[in-house]
Amino acid sequence: MNREDFPLIMGSENDMADCCMGCKWKAKPDGLIYFDNAATMQKPRRVIRAVEEFYETSNANPLRGIYDLSQEATRMVNEAREKVAEFIGAFSAEEVIFTSGATEGLNMVAKWCGEFGNLLVSSGPSDGLGADDEIIVGMGEHHANLLPWGRIARETGAKLRLVKCQRDGTMDEEEFFRVLTPNTRVVAMNLVGNVMGGGNDVKRMFRVAHEKSGAICVLDAAQAVAHRRINVQELGADFMVFSGHKMGAPMGIGVLYGKRELLEKVEPVKLGGEMMEWVEVRRSETERRVDLAWEMDDGGIFVKYAKIPQRFEAGTMNVGGIIGLRAAVEYLEEVGLKKIGEYERRLTDYAMERISGDSVEIYGAENGIIALNVMGVHPQDTAEILNQEGIAVRAGWHCAQPMLEFLGIGPVVRISLCFYNTEEEVDKLVRVLSEVRGKMGMT
Ligand code: PMP
Repeated sequence: MNREDFPLIMGSENDMADCCMGCKWKAKPDGLIYFDNAATMQKPRRVIRAVEEFYETSNANPLRGIYDLSQEATRMVNEAREKVAEFIGAFSAEEVIFTSGATEGLNMVAKWCGEFGNLLVSSGPSDGLGADDEIIVGMGEHHANLLPWGRIARETGAKLRLVKCQRDGTMDEEEFFRVLTPNTRVVAMNLVGNVMGGGNDVKRMFRVAHEKSGAICVLDAAQAVAHRRINVQELGADFMVFSGHKMGAPMGIGVLYGKRELLEKVEPVKLGGEMMEWVEVRRSETERRVDLAWEMDDGGIFVKYAKIPQRFEAGTMNVGGIIGLRAAVEYLEEVGLKKIGEYERRLTDYAMERISGDSVEIYGAENGIIALNVMGVHPQDTAEILNQEGIAVRAGWHCAQPMLEFLGIGPVVRISLCFYNTEEEVDKLVRVLSEVRGKMGMT
């Protein structure tokens, strides 16, 4: 579907003799079969063009200048924010914070929960997590949705409740509902897992978590956002993160959604330019001159933060990325997320019907993600044999080592599909997989 929109997949522009960056990559004669879409999606021409156009026609630092060009850049950022808000069903554009990606967003939310973990249950000034509080995270989470919670638990003394996962990587619901108590302050989970492709029943689990404990519900939508329609209000997430690059936008841009009333209460993690309305050095008696620097007592610098979401976007923004993200959103909407989901489901089924169970062990196959190993062959070897045939897949722990250890599986080969993949590509994958053991000298 829509293959012609992706220059790298089509290979045409890849044959440029003299890439200005000296790019040495060349597709194999039969072209590239790209099955590593869960790591990053290829970019449609429309996104590439939008970024190029921004730098060619509208490049200026937004928010800062009163001159027309800067205002044009500001307008483009504002419009992109509106578009993203509409795309995810946010209540307002103020709830959309641009980040560098899902990882940054999750680190920010974890820090906020550590400092203000009682946001939803306290009526007075919010206080941070402590020894009586609990954080629930699934064993099947990507490290980006695991490690920040581990650190916050260590720093605050809160208990980390690591809920075991099922074979498809999703949270064991029985255990989830058992460990969910009135002391639960945070529940963090993904909408689609990045190794097995299983999807948590987020809507139901978040609803019960809110009812039973008033916990803050954090959703990692990194693997879902390019493959299905997401409505953050319907899902009931208080915070949600995703990365642009997994949905056709450039790398280095992402989104952190936060409910407005929560964002109004938390402190910016990053401080710097463009996130404040007023900064003033208030001189105190302890002020004294040390060489050329002023040494101040604590609180010597007074800051009045800008409104949300600007107060969370310190420093110069990745405007090229933001413009590219908007273009990616528009592109996906045009292709149609429903159509995309259905196509990818059919292609997953097509692959599953053909991959031979005799020599291949399959661990998971959902939402366009297939995790497998060729029996007796290390996943790195399988990936290298596939690479020699022009097929790009990922092998290893996939930043989900605790899950793969817990399930007793170890490293795996991951094939992740996108709507630009075809049945012919899957046929070739199936053929090469069936040859792997022979190539390794096995029978
Ligand atoms: N969560 C999930 C489920 C992911 O698959 C990934 C990326 N593999 C991330 C978070 C982190 O995304 P990024 O590296 O773009 O920040």
